[in-house]
Amino acid sequence: MNRLLNRVGADRVPALDGRVLEDVVPSTGQVWGTMPRSGADDVQAAVAAARVAQPAWGARSVEHRARVLEAVADGLEERADAIAAMESEDQGKPVTLARRVDAPRAAANFRFFASLVRTESLPATAHRSGWHQAMRQPIGVVGLITPWNLPLYLLTWKLAPALACGNAVVAKPSELTPRTADLLWDVLEEAGVPAGVANLVHGLGAEAGAPIVAHPDVDCVSFTGGTVTGRAVAAAAAPTFKKLSLELGGKNPTVILPDADLDAAAVGAAWAAFTNQGEICLCGSRILVHRSQHDALVERLVAAASALTVGDPRAEGTDVGALVSAAHRDKVEGYLRLAVEEGGTVHGGARPSLRAPFDGGFFLHPAVVTGLAASCRTATEEIFGPVVTVHAYDTVDEAIAMANGVAYGLSATVWGRDTQRIQAVAEALHAGMVWINGWMVRDLRTPFGGWKHSGVGREGGTWSLDVYSELKTVTWCR
Ligand code: NAD
Repeated sequence: MNRLLNRVGADRVPALDGRVLEDVVPSTGQVWGTMPRSGADDVQAAVAAARVAQPAWGARSVEHRARVLEAVADGLEERADAIAAMESEDQGKPVTLARRVDAPRAAANFRFFASLVRTESLPATAHRSGWHQAMRQPIGVVGLITPWNLPLYLLTWKLAPALACGNAVVAKPSELTPRTADLLWDVLEEAGVPAGVANLVHGLGAEAGAPIVAHPDVDCVSFTGGTVTGRAVAAAAAPTFKKLSLELGGKNPTVILPDADLDAAAVGAAWAAFTNQGEICLCGSRILVHRSQHDALVERLVAAASALTVGDPRAEGTDVGALVSAAHRDKVEGYLRLAVEEGGTVHGGARPSLRAPFDGGFFLHPAVVTGLAASCRTATEEIFGPVVTVHAYDTVDEAIAMANGVAYGLSATVWGRDTQRIQAVAEALHAGMVWINGWMVRDLRTPFGGWKHSGVGREGGTWSLDVYSELKTVTWCR
């Protein structure tokens, strides 16, 4: 039986009370091993270690920290294949996707923030009142709480800028996908991150996440996860006035304008809906198409969805792996039943029959749902699985109203040809990121985050540095 441990200071330790959680392989349903089921005392020990280690790390030069981050990137790149295989096994995603997205992005996050802190310049102004100098300083101890869908990708997206800015961290990865965080901590150690600067505590959200948020010695919490959890995190953090960054859920529209290339839009919309089993906050889970093109689009989309190979995440030809857990598949299937109750027609969405050991895994065929009102629960609540709903509109204004008619506002995609109209639609959408004729294309220098219930604040580029540092103006008075 494999056994993960917490990383507190220089030590690898079990939970203080010895309790463990099992880590299950989504594609087989078999137990891989255990992780500590940490509680408030374990968090306390990690925060104390971070407090002790932070001042020396914060006092190191930006150049020193940037070099350490680059060494982490090197270490992750050397292990890219192992990371992809591990993430695929732990999360359920196809290994081909983990190779293309998760592993390279984890390394890129460290390299990017190393370069950014090296090159960033802040204003220093000569004014008749004096000489004004803006500077960044570390916040202190930062809590990082991350979800299971892109485990290493999202943890490194927070950890790299937090360390670059001179903070110490206490991180809690999702209890469903703890393994690549453990590997990352080996790399941090090798790369020269001093003991105590990065601490790792495994466990459940309520038992190990909540104590991080409430801890008076944690100065900032960066949370990525569901909107309901985000609300609890915001409420728990409020009394301490700690800095807070919230990256939450989405119900992102794919708007297909009447002049779009329908073949390209159908392929793009299927990719945006079903990548990573639909378990990406940015997935396009609602497709809005002009009524005249609705049936043609649905035909193409259903064909594209049923052509996807569902099964063994290790196989090179697999497009859709396993959902992360049995409970999550139950939730997604519950929404497919709800869709029928709400008057929709579900195309696909069955459990595939697979050979052992994958017959014990949490697989589901992608589903295209038609015939639903855009305002119903299936079309407005986040499902976070391989399910997309299709809605017909008559005017572009109606499409914009439908796109904006949900509580979320994370991202959107627009397919079309008329550049002026596309730009006008993009500007009218309530979303933090809008892709035109594509999906999930990122430049790490740009802001990332959501409107409305999709989050508070932005990360990415200097916005990440704003989250993980305190800004100060020093003025030499005349
Ligand atoms: P979740 O909210 O259930 O859990 C996220 C993390 O929070 C986990 O580590 C969990 O253990 C922890 N947690 C749970 N309860 C907590 C509490 N009371 N206090 C502190 N921590 C707690 O989310 P999930 O199911 O792991 O992930 C899926 C969600 O994440 C989806 O809603 C998805 O849209 C969202 N997500 C958002 C982004 C983004 O960038 N906006 C990216 C990825 C995923």
